[in-house]
Amino acid sequence: MKPKKKLIRQFAVLFSLYIIVAIVFASVAVYFSQMNQYKEMCRERIKDVGGHLTGLILKEAADFEAYQKYYMEHYEELRIPCDFENVNAARDEFFRAFNAEYPDKTFRDDISIDEVSDELRRLYYTYRHEYWLLVFEEARESFDLPYTYYLVPDVQTSYTMYMIDGERTNDPNHPGFLYMGDSYYEEPSEHKLMWNTFLTGIAYDEVYEWDNDWGNCYSYYTPLVINGKCLGLVVAEIDVSAVNAMILKSTALLAAELAFLLIIMTVALLFFINKYHIKRIDHLSEQINEFSLTRAYDTVDSINAYPYGDDEIKALAMNTADMIKDLQIHEGKVAQAAQFKSDFLANMSHEIRTPMNAVVGLSDLLVEEDLTERGKEYARQINSSANAMLVVINDILDFTRIEAGSVEINPSKYDINRVLNDIVNMMAMGLADKPVSMKLNIPPNMPKDLYGDVERIRQVLNNVISNAVKFTKEGSITINADCKSIDEDTVNLTIRVADTGIGIRKQDYERIFDSFSQVDSKRNREVEGTGLGLAITQRLVRLMGGEIEVESEYGVGSVFKIHMPQKLSMPEGAAQQLEGSGKAPSTRRLHAPNAKVLVVDDNSVNLFVARNLLDLYAIKSTCVISGEQAIEAAGREKFDLVLMDYMMPHMDGIEAMKHIREKYPEYKDIPIIAFTANAVEEARDVLLKEGMDDFIAKPIKSIELEEMLMKWLPAGVIES
Ligand code: ADP
Repeated sequence: MKPKKKLIRQFAVLFSLYIIVAIVFASVAVYFSQMNQYKEMCRERIKDVGGHLTGLILKEAADFEAYQKYYMEHYEELRIPCDFENVNAARDEFFRAFNAEYPDKTFRDDISIDEVSDELRRLYYTYRHEYWLLVFEEARESFDLPYTYYLVPDVQTSYTMYMIDGERTNDPNHPGFLYMGDSYYEEPSEHKLMWNTFLTGIAYDEVYEWDNDWGNCYSYYTPLVINGKCLGLVVAEIDVSAVNAMILKSTALLAAELAFLLIIMTVALLFFINKYHIKRIDHLSEQINEFSLTRAYDTVDSINAYPYGDDEIKALAMNTADMIKDLQIHEGKVAQAAQFKSDFLANMSHEIRTPMNAVVGLSDLLVEEDLTERGKEYARQINSSANAMLVVINDILDFTRIEAGSVEINPSKYDINRVLNDIVNMMAMGLADKPVSMKLNIPPNMPKDLYGDVERIRQVLNNVISNAVKFTKEGSITINADCKSIDEDTVNLTIRVADTGIGIRKQDYERIFDSFSQVDSKRNREVEGTGLGLAITQRLVRLMGGEIEVESEYGVGSVFKIHMPQKLSMPEGAAQQLEGSGKAPSTRRLHAPNAKVLVVDDNSVNLFVARNLLDLYAIKSTCVISGEQAIEAAGREKFDLVLMDYMMPHMDGIEAMKHIREKYPEYKDIPIIAFTANAVEEARDVLLKEGMDDFIAKPIKSIELEEMLMKWLPAGVIES
């Protein structure tokens, strides 16, 4: 697996997150610190502004009269524009409301607005609309801040009260004080600072901060004290929201600068990480990947040669190299062990099969001898036991070869009808002494010719059907064949073997396919077997691209279903082979007195068996004990067939065959058949590839030998 550039992308995402978090935190911190700084500055500035303005005003109005004069002079230009048209109505409304609320107060409402003196009019507007209004100016550049200021005159406490009650008061407890309720003094507590400043005439070193629908401002109050009297306040205000916007803007700018800087740094960092770290990891990962694909041990050299530096990655690389080296050593040992195993198997197979040759062959012959019935029975028993032992040996060999992956599927043309019929006929013999019937159903549309490894198919069917025979005491065994096309050239061959035997428990379904596993051993004690049959069967079926399934009811019976894809024509690249040798046992005894067969084997017992077997068919046999002797014999006489042992000292069977064919051109067409105790598949392939015409495994069974002779002897020498 090669996860390209994933690590660096993860780093990039991680760093981006860091950048975002860092910028957010930095911006928030900067914003608040700037805000505090600005607020502090605003406070100071606003005090300056207040003080400055107060100074200006006081300079203009040196005493009360001067102030009044100043006030009047500036009144028109400084007042808030007012709706003069409706002033009477407004005034009436005001008086009415006043009288309704304070019936015990006297208020002169008998004069029309036209009669009201300038002074009254001024007071009226002042009172009605803005007690405090006087000045509104834009920020002055000298202060560099957006502030406003205005003057709060003494009207509400002096003139207003005077007008109402005929006397002046600035006592907040005085009932007339209520008149101030329209504006600032609506909530005196909130304007405590203003009120206190006004009452005491002392400038407090405090800034009033307010935040409401009108805005967010700082206000600073400076009393306007003339001749010892506080005539009003100068209110200087600064709009903090403007400051806020300003700070936000500067913070955003700062954040952008920071982001830019961090991005540059991160890109540099990622570049560095990629160049100095990830590249090394990538190299190592590529090497490991390469190794896992190619198993080339020189990967270690490229790991060692690469400059991995001197850190954890280097340690990882070195450890990986060590592991690969260990693996190489280990693999060598495993290969050695595997080699040892196959050598051992080949040897064992040879060693066991050679004496078995004598046992099987001679017991085969013994049955034919003129013996007492008891003697014949003994001979039959010896023969069947030897054959049973051969089955076990073959199973073990087969299983080890399948496990080692050295079994190949060799397709050839075959007739499934015939294969099934042969097997069923053979198996039916095993049912002779049991009340079990066997039925084979093949649909009429079954193709005549299929292409597959008929030997393996035979082996599979043999295993499954022989199990059915073994585990069924009474009832029936039914074999159904079916064939459905998968595509133009392939069919799915299904063979279903159903029996009414002992059945298998559900929990054992998996186990029966394990090697050396026999289930339900209590009930099966008397049944022979190695527990390898189904293990081999399943593996072979899978090798052929198929599957085997089991369904069973314990005590009622079992159904084994085998599905295998089979070709309708010869698969490309498959070696053209003649139909396999495992034909049904012929009932016809071969008789070929004119046939001459040369038998070559270094083992005299084998020669003895072969000669006697050939005698059964009246074949003239010449037996020699070495390759050299075989060449000589072939030179002396032209045989119809040569049976050549493969493993012989000095000159093996293949060499002898080659010599004969080179030396005597007439032997080009004479069948030379290898026979050997080495039952391993590869040996068979080698023999055929080297030029042997066929192969017969030792121990030679009369049936197999007969089949082989029937197949290869020239038709002219066989008498029917
Ligand atoms: P064995 O050589 O012992 O028969 P197999 O691998 O062929 O080994 O089968 C494994 C086990 O599966 C058998 O021992 C038997 O318990 C069970 N088994 C296989 N076929 C049948 C069947 N047709 N009916 C009941 N049990 C079966």
